[in-house]
Amino acid sequence: MTANDPGLKSWVEVPKDSDFPIQNLPFGIFTTARTGPGVGVAIGNHVLNLAMVHELGLLDGLRLPGRIFSQPHLNALFELGRKKVGEVRERISELLRSDHHELRDQVKAREDILLPVSRCTLLLPVQIPNYTDFYSSEEHATNVGSLFRDPKNALLPNWKHLPVGYHGRASSVVVSGTPIHRPRGQVKVADSEMPVFCPSRKMDFELELAFITSSNTNLGSPVSLREAEDHIVGFVLFNDWSARDIQQWEYVPLGPFLGKNFGSTMSPWVVTLDALEPFRTEGPSQVPHVLPYLSFEGKRNFDIQLEVLLASEKGEVATLSRTNAKYLYWNIAQQLVHHTVNGCNIQVGDLYASGTISGPSPGSYGSLLELTFDGKKALHLPGGEERGFLQDGDTVIMRGHAERDGVRIGFGDCLGKILPAIG
Ligand code: MN
Repeated sequence: MTANDPGLKSWVEVPKDSDFPIQNLPFGIFTTARTGPGVGVAIGNHVLNLAMVHELGLLDGLRLPGRIFSQPHLNALFELGRKKVGEVRERISELLRSDHHELRDQVKAREDILLPVSRCTLLLPVQIPNYTDFYSSEEHATNVGSLFRDPKNALLPNWKHLPVGYHGRASSVVVSGTPIHRPRGQVKVADSEMPVFCPSRKMDFELELAFITSSNTNLGSPVSLREAEDHIVGFVLFNDWSARDIQQWEYVPLGPFLGKNFGSTMSPWVVTLDALEPFRTEGPSQVPHVLPYLSFEGKRNFDIQLEVLLASEKGEVATLSRTNAKYLYWNIAQQLVHHTVNGCNIQVGDLYASGTISGPSPGSYGSLLELTFDGKKALHLPGGEERGFLQDGDTVIMRGHAERDGVRIGFGDCLGKILPAIG
């Protein structure tokens, strides 16, 4: 793919260490005081207004439907398919190259084509028909199994045979920057017969990567492993906020419910699978062998460095965790194949989250539940504060990027602040 060439330079200034060099070109939805909502592409500290680029005739060779970029969500664009979205990205790459003048000349004359991101509000990029949360990190599943159940049988017998998942709640997925109120709910205190109703005392984050689908399939038509990635347009960072005390009381026997559905945060830019192609890597070896419908060839994991930071109300910022998406045991193709093997259909804009991504070492765990052993071993922050779980006023910031040959493909921030419980 030409757009991934590490040698490319843009006429738009891109600061060193920006998540958005010309090799990335992720899609999002933005508004300004005067325009939008519409589709934008991130380049450096700017947003390229695609509705304007289209209006100027610079995308005419692609034969796109009219007003495809004057939409409040990316669904209509994604519905054109991963291949077509890739062609749009390739053409934008061409228009932004340092040796290319067509778009650059127009930008000099009109200021509504290329906007500083500081003048834009980034919105939820997709309308999400369905949200599924997997449980694909062996380290996370082992850690949680040890804490919630029994360290000797941490991993349940099914875990290495299928990507465990559950259906989450799409209505409460919000874009980065949206504050989250601490939920209230039923909590069971150890030495009492009766549960109590109170604000959660075990407010947690979950560091996840989520993929978005760009196809509608028919009910009764499973997606095969060979074609699975053709249906996946890109990734976002995802914080699956979790109230552990509510979760611990409610989850038997049907799994997560109110401990999870009060809010989940996604990053605003959809980084395409195409942009991440150079960062493919082997995943952990799968033993015992998976059933034939889940067996795959090639590199299906992605080497994406991830981190979680906490900014307290006092202004202290601490790194809580550093990990990598390459540790995920189950890859995205296997997740989608397993999801549809019974005939379940997928829709454009569906969100499929990985499950918490934990690595092998304690500093690489993707939730406070694991980092603090269910709140029993508080983390000491560099400025002197301590955390078992999150406090009101805490802001959790997730970041991720892949880096190679001097090219950094990043996601931007996925952040949210915890507000006090309502009422
Ligand atoms: Mn989760």
